[in-house]
Order: sequence, then structure tokens, then C-alpha cells
Amino acid sequence: MSAVFDRSRERVAAATRHMPGGVSSHFRYGVSPTPLVFERADGVYLHDIDGNRLIDYYLALGPMILGHTPPDVIAAARAQLDRGILYGGQSELEFEAARLVCEMVPCAERVRFCASGTEADQLALRLSRAVTGRDVIVKFEGHYHGWMDSVLWSTAPTGNAMGPESGPTPVGGSAGQDSLAGRNTEVLSWNRPEQVIDRLARGDVAAVLMEAAMCNSGAIMPLPGYLEAVREACTKHGTILIFDEVITGFRVGPGGAQKRLGVTPDLAVFAKAIANGFAVAAVAGRADIMDQLAGGNIIHGGTYNAQAVNMAATVATLQRLATPGIYERMESRGQRLMQGLAKAFADAGVTATVTGFPQIFHVGLGLEAPAVNYRDMIRVDRAGYVRLTTLLLKHGVRALERGAWFLSTEHDEAIVDATIAAMRAALAEWTTAK
Ligand code: PMP
Repeated sequence: MSAVFDRSRERVAAATRHMPGGVSSHFRYGVSPTPLVFERADGVYLHDIDGNRLIDYYLALGPMILGHTPPDVIAAARAQLDRGILYGGQSELEFEAARLVCEMVPCAERVRFCASGTEADQLALRLSRAVTGRDVIVKFEGHYHGWMDSVLWSTAPTGNAMGPESGPTPVGGSAGQDSLAGRNTEVLSWNRPEQVIDRLARGDVAAVLMEAAMCNSGAIMPLPGYLEAVREACTKHGTILIFDEVITGFRVGPGGAQKRLGVTPDLAVFAKAIANGFAVAAVAGRADIMDQLAGGNIIHGGTYNAQAVNMAATVATLQRLATPGIYERMESRGQRLMQGLAKAFADAGVTATVTGFPQIFHVGLGLEAPAVNYRDMIRVDRAGYVRLTTLLLKHGVRALERGAWFLSTEHDEAIVDATIAAMRAALAEWTTAK
């Protein structure tokens, strides 16, 4: 197969007459060989307007954990459409969705729904400041928490680290960002327990916000004992520990990274896989913290929060994800894929790491050893990997240029093996062209 993408290229170019760059998100712009235009999706496949059928490992950047057309989720959303779209009030659906989250996630005693991960992160931070009466937030290099001014620091997937690793200088992520919005945001290097312990000892930090496993820039595991040390320091100094589980939540297991890694935060943020593509996010956490949202003076709004069709999809998604065996099957197929890709790189004589969870892993082209944090990860051969994923796309497999691979329940062994074969073919071309 050698797919072409000419119609996508033409249509995106034409759309620039009405839309900046022809896209609706910064992260869809400038991808190689062109932003693609799709006409439909089913199971593990995306169908673009050039007639290509592509095995999808973007999964829309994570949400489509049950694949693109899960019949139960679609049926639930379709049925709800006839009963109303948006009530501007409560429904049994959101009560049931919240109950399911509380049943599945260790830290979840209460849940508040939002419409995007960015908003949910903002809520978790506001809540932390309100309950602690402190202003300072600690985040980590390479961890992404949405595009808000206050957290878009030192996070570019292309690498924007500055200052020594022992005390990174926060780097703004966007032109037009309010430079003062970062004055209470401090950036540390992740996986370095002593940095958190030292900083928290000053007693003025409202919250530590982190991806419990760093999945935006790479898929990097916490070193043994790291999360435990951060947890202990937060408890000791009255700082709220927030895990941003927008990627890991309901993806690496029914209880997210916190259950899998065995460390419970005070608050956690969910989105993406919680509703299989419907616009749902949530903050979940300790009752004594979350209940401050009831009737007090902490403002959290959102016209679309807990929209009824989205909640129907959430209930159906969570019910399926609570089915025994579902993660185990993803686990074994993901492992097969990780091992198959690692062997393909080794056989082609190409240096690369394949790290992370079987349901969300990362290929670090050019890395000799698994990255420990952002400083290691940004040494990847980015340009080389863009060329490789572009070749892979021509062989019918769509994987993110920045190295992440997302798996769904629908990626079976035959799909995994076809993917490994496509990678071998792409690598053969890539090494010849080098
Ligand atoms: N946190 C993390 C860890 C994310 O990966 C993302 C999105 N990629 C967000 C927050 C922001 O979520 P959203 O795009 O829904 O605003």
C-alpha cells in the first residue's frame, strides 16, 4: 500500500478561506504530510476522503478506548437524543455516571462534571487554592494540563526546557499568553523527589499537579517510590495532590494510574476515555474538598456540563469498562504490539525505546535508554520520527508524530500484527532513504 492524501491536502487548503489553517486545534495543524480530512470511522479504522482506510492509533488523542463505533455507547446516545439534549438541570444519567466513577476510582468520593480536560484542570486548581488559602501551584516540565494561561508552561512536545534541571526556568507555551498568569505557577523537574520535598517545605504551595505517569511528552513511568514520596510531602505540608488523569484515566485500568500505581491523590482530573469521544471531563476526589463546591463561594460553571447525551455515553462507556477481562485483553495485545515494534526497530538496526503502558505507550526514536523525564525525552529524533510516521501512514497506519500510541479494545491480534508488518515496511524505506 502506498496511500496518497491529495484530496485532504486540497480540501484543507481550500478551507483556509474560512478557517485559520483549515483546522480547529493547534495540535491538528502542520502535521505531515497534511492534516487529514475524514468522512467516517469504524472500529479501529479511519476512512479519509482520498479513500484510504487507516488503522488508527491516534484514537483522537486518547478518547476512543472502545474504538470508533461501540454499539452500546452509540445506542445509549441515540436513545437519549429523543429524550432531550441539554436540560440545564440534573438527570439520573449524571447521578449514575458519578456513582460509577466513585465505584471505579480510588480517590473519588465525589465527582463534578465539566466539558473539557482544560476546564477540569482549572476547577481542580481553583478548588485547591480555595481550600488551602494558598496561591502557588507546582507543575512539572513536559506535563500538559490544557491550554490555560496558568498551566501552559514548559510543556511543548517539541521541547522547550530552560535553566538547570535542578531548578527549571518556566517557559511560556504560547504567544499571547498572560505573562502574569504564571507568577504563581512553579515548574519542577519530574521524577526528582527531593525537588518536591524541598519546595513544599516552605508551606505555601496550594497544589502539586502532575500526570501520575507522564503521557503527554513520552510515556514515562514514575521511578519506584517517587509518587509515594510526593504523596507523603503533600500530606505533611497540607498541599493538595492532583493527578491529571485525562490520558491515563479509564485507559490504563478501570481505576486509572492511581489504582495501577497504588498512590491515591486528593483530587484527580478525567476526560477523554471517560466517555469514548463525547465531550465529558470530571474532577473527582475527597469528599471534604469536593463538598466545598456545594453552595459556597467557589465558582464553577459550564453550560454544557453533564449534557444529557454525553452523560448517556459516559454511563455506557463506564459500564463496558467495568466488564471483567476488558483491560487484560488490551494489556496482552498492547504488549504484543510494544514487543513487535521494539523487535522491528532492533532488526532494522534503529535505536529506539518503546515505553509506557500497553494501552498508551511511546516510541522514543534515537533514545538509548528509557527517558526518566522531559530532559531525556526531548532528545528524541523528532524529524526522523515525523518521516517514519509519514511512511507508516502510507502503509495504512496512523500514529502520532510525537511518539504516542493509543490502543483500543478493538485492536485485536490480527490488527496488531498488520501494524508491526507496516512498521517493518516503513522502517525498510526509512533506513534506505536516510
Ligand atoms: N491534561 C492532559 C494530561 C491532557 O492530555 C489533556 C489533553 N491532551 C488535557 C489536560 C486537556 O484536555 P482537553 O483537550 O480536553 O481540554
